[in-house]
Formats: sequence, C-alpha cells, structure tokens
Amino acid sequence: DEMNYQPTDPCYLDVLKQYFGFSKFRPLQWKIINSILNEKRDNCVIMATGYGKSLTFQYPSVFTKRTSLIISPLISLMEDQVHGLKASNIEACFLGSAQENTTQIKKELFSGHYRLVYVTPEYAISAIEDFKRLDANVGIDLIAVDEAHCVSQWGHDFRSSYRKLGILKEEFPKIPILALTATATMEVRTDICRNLALKNPHLECTSFDRPNLFLCVEPKTKDISSDLKKYMKRVGYRYSYDGPTIIYCPTKKTTEEIVGVLKGLGVSSLPYHASLPMRDRRMAHKKFLNDEIQVVVATVAFGMGIDKPDVRNVIHYGSSKDIESYYQEIGRAGRDGLPSFCVAFFGPTDFNIFRHFVSEIENKTFREHKLKMLRRMESYLSITTCRRRFLLSYFETKDLNEIGGTTNCCDCCRLRLTQLKNGLPASQINNSQAVDFGKEAKHLFTAIEVTGNRFGLTVPTLVLLGSGSKKIEAFCKSEIFGCGKYRNQKFWGALGKALICDGYLKEKVVHGGFGSIVEMTFKARDWIKFATSEKSQLLLIPSGDLL
Ligand code: ADP
Repeated sequence: DEMNYQPTDPCYLDVLKQYFGFSKFRPLQWKIINSILNEKRDNCVIMATGYGKSLTFQYPSVFTKRTSLIISPLISLMEDQVHGLKASNIEACFLGSAQENTTQIKKELFSGHYRLVYVTPEYAISAIEDFKRLDANVGIDLIAVDEAHCVSQWGHDFRSSYRKLGILKEEFPKIPILALTATATMEVRTDICRNLALKNPHLECTSFDRPNLFLCVEPKTKDISSDLKKYMKRVGYRYSYDGPTIIYCPTKKTTEEIVGVLKGLGVSSLPYHASLPMRDRRMAHKKFLNDEIQVVVATVAFGMGIDKPDVRNVIHYGSSKDIESYYQEIGRAGRDGLPSFCVAFFGPTDFNIFRHFVSEIENKTFREHKLKMLRRMESYLSITTCRRRFLLSYFETKDLNEIGGTTNCCDCCRLRLTQLKNGLPASQINNSQAVDFGKEAKHLFTAIEVTGNRFGLTVPTLVLLGSGSKKIEAFCKSEIFGCGKYRNQKFWGALGKALICDGYLKEKVVHGGFGSIVEMTFKARDWIKFATSEKSQLLLIPSGDLL
C-alpha cells in the first residue's frame, strides 16, 4: 500500500540505517529513489518543506558508491550540507568558481572519492567536460536540481543561470535528472519539465497540508512593541515567546528596529540579513539552533536550509510578496509536528513597494502575472473564510471540501467557532453566508466605465462619493456623481478588491508607472448584460471593510 511503500530487498534499508540513521523511508522517498536507481528515470518532485527532500538525492550514490551532482543556488546551504554529510561519513564536496584548492578536489573527484558533488548552476554549465570525465571514470548516478522552481519566470524566485541547465539533458541523455522544489504551481511544474528537457518524467507531489500550523493575520499598528507582545507571555518583568521564533521583515532596517524592541522586552534575539558579514550570520544561525537566543529577526535571506525542527512561531512583520514565498517561509515552523503559530502582521502600505517592483517589469504578460500573485497574497490577508483552505487551494487542485479539520486551524475558523458557541444569530456569524452586493457592484462598474477604465479604484470611488476633489472635476456632471454616498470610501475600496479577486475586475500596472489601473473584465460585462434591475444579484463573502 501507498503509505508503506518500502524496498523489499533489505540491503537498501541497511544502507539507510548505516549512513543516515533512519530505519524506514518516507513513502515518496523510496518511490523516487527506486525510480532513479532501478528505472533510471527523470523525476520532477514537489515536496512540501520538511518532508525530506535531501535524502532523495543523497541516497542513490551512497548506495551505489558512485557519484551524484547536486545543483543548488545557495552556496552557504551547500556548504552546510557538505559538513553534515562528512560528519556522517559520506564523502562530499562543493565546487564553485570562487573555490580554492580546486586542483586537489578535482584529483580526488576523478579517483571516485566523492559520493556527492555540490555545484552552483553557473559552475555546472561551465564544467561539462569535467563531468564527462567523471562519468567515464566513476559513473554519475544522478543530476539533482534543487530549488528547481528557479528555472521558471512564473515562480517566485527566477534565476537566469537556471535557464541554461537544459543543456545537461542534451549532454548527458542517459543520466537521470531529479528536479526538486518545495513550492510550485501547475505553470511552474510545466516550466521545470520543459526547461530541463526532462524525458517522460515521473511526477510526484506531496500534500501541502500542514495541519499543525495555526494561521493568523493581524493589522500592524504604529507600535511594534505592543504588536509583538500580543504573541508573547509575561514572565516576571520580562516577556518571552513560547519557544524558538523566527520574525521575518521586509527590510534590513526593520530587522534592526525589531531587534531593538525585543531587547527592551527582555527577549534575546539577533538580526540576520544579507548585508551582515558571513561570520555574524553563521553566529546567529548557530545560536538559534542551539537555543542560545530565542528569536532570529531576518529578511527572507534566512531560511533556506534551516533545519530546526522545533520552531514554534513564524511571525511576519510586513507581508510576503506572494503566497509561494509565504508558504515556504511558514513551512519552517513546526517541523516536529507539534502545534505552531504563523502570524502575519500587515499594513495597508505593505504592498506599495512590491507594486512598484512589479511596475518595473518590462514584459507585459509577466508583469500582469506578478501582479496577480501580489493580489492573491493580499486576499489571503483579508479573507474571513478559512485561511488554510485558501493556501491549499493555491497549490492543490483537489476538492477543498475534502480538506477536513478546518475548525481550529486559523483565526477565521476560531472566530466562527466562538461565535457559534456564544449563540450569535446566523446573520452575524463570520463568513457563514455570501451577501448580495449586486446594487453596489453595479454602481462601481458604472463609475469605472464612466471614468473610462483608465484609473485605479480611487477615482471611480471619489465620483461615487460625490467628492469635491480636483481629480474628478471632469466627472461631476455625470449621472452617477455622488450616488454612492450610502457607503463610505473604505467600503468601495474593499468592494473593488473583492471584485478583482472574483475576476470581475482586472488590475493592470503600466510599465514604469505608479499605481495601477482597474478595468472591467468580460465577466463583469456579461454580468451587467444579464442583470436586470430587480434580480441583479452578485454574491460575495463579506470580509473586512465589506462588513
Ligand atoms: P526538506 O529539504 O524537504 O525540507 P530535509 O531533507 O531537510 O527536508 O528533511 C527534513 C527532516 O526530516 C530532517 O530533520 C531529516 O533528518 C528528516 N528525515 C528525512 N528523511 C527521513 C526518514 N526517512 N525518516 C526519518 N526522518 C527523516
């Protein structure tokens, strides 16, 4: 059966025990390793963080006593893995262009000394001849491409050096390729297989569900200290988190600021970001692993490769730029399976800078794609329905009603539960039913049309409110001028966002421009066409300012 998928020949488990110290494979691990060793097949694997990716590319050559190439974008991560492997008596090395004593390493390499050879993507494409010699002398079992989503422009971390890796299949058609990533949507998967030129790949995907993570969202106030204290407990005069904690910040400046605030609260922490010297970063990492500090305050540079199983809280002070990044970052919580908290603090201006970066993308399709990714993240932060389902629906195509256990998985579900317990009437219970916003939608659509489908949400909203603003002077004679006074500005903004999420409106960013343009989609035009004045229903689940 699927859950107990293990090798029948005991020699595989012996090697697993001897070198890795595990007595069983996780089900997918063996499936993948078996397909590499015994079928020589290409694999495209999407594995949720913490499932155990590393074993799938480390095991094969340890078993065969030949060698494997591992391509990864992060040198520090590769160096950590090399250290770890050596400690387990597995010979491994790192080869990069800036490497000293390369001659010595290469000599050992060609004599078959190394089971695992870690390389950067740049190095890999420059060393084809060496690899051919290695294959002839020793035999290459596998080429593993870690963080494979980096080949795709549709992903969250595109790297141009990854684009050239397609050449590997051409040069080594017989060597199986294993493409691995922790997050990928359908588009990204397709891109991985195509760009790496995988042949009839075996596709695997673990579940993305992490039922031990409790998800919540909080508005950021101006007072960092009181925001952070919300999730701490008080111990005498000091404050403390309940266990090891990572706080992610959008900028270096914020990390330093938060380290200061934590100090004031008596919480031990260190910052971690790309401008710190390697020595300081390593120190922060080490102290965190050994529980000598309770908190690392980091930019997203921290994380790939942390293997601390008991992180109890992942707190974002400022939003991530998209769901894929967010999911990967919170994936570092609770790898031991015990209950853990993921809190995202965000403010209305968090997205301005992201939107600005998006506006700088030249390619129109790509720009719009990135904008859509931003919007999805914004939706996550503002929904009142289950956040866990929302995240899973981003990655998985299965019927969301099959995802059980959404009573105590996030703040929204918890609120609903409390309201039910307190006997609130159905109409007042969080996200219990969709509400008809037909009349309001019609007003907003008309305002967008009247103003020419060429502004963001502000101008149409001001027209509806009958504002005296200079910006909208040109529209004050229009029939709908002032006819939306029955709702406030916040409401109209929230309605606009909800209609974007539901596909009635589409948002565009002009290259190099500030702010975005909102226009009606085919779906909205279709709705207007069939909406007669009496029966013009447009159902939305009310959230935030729509309530
Ligand atoms: P990923 O890269 O997928 O996030 P890792 O390869 O770092 O995950 O592995 C996550 C954790 O799971 C590690 O602590 C590792 O020791 C453990 N692990 C991996 N495979 C097994 C296994 N077969 N049995 C028990 N523990 C395992």
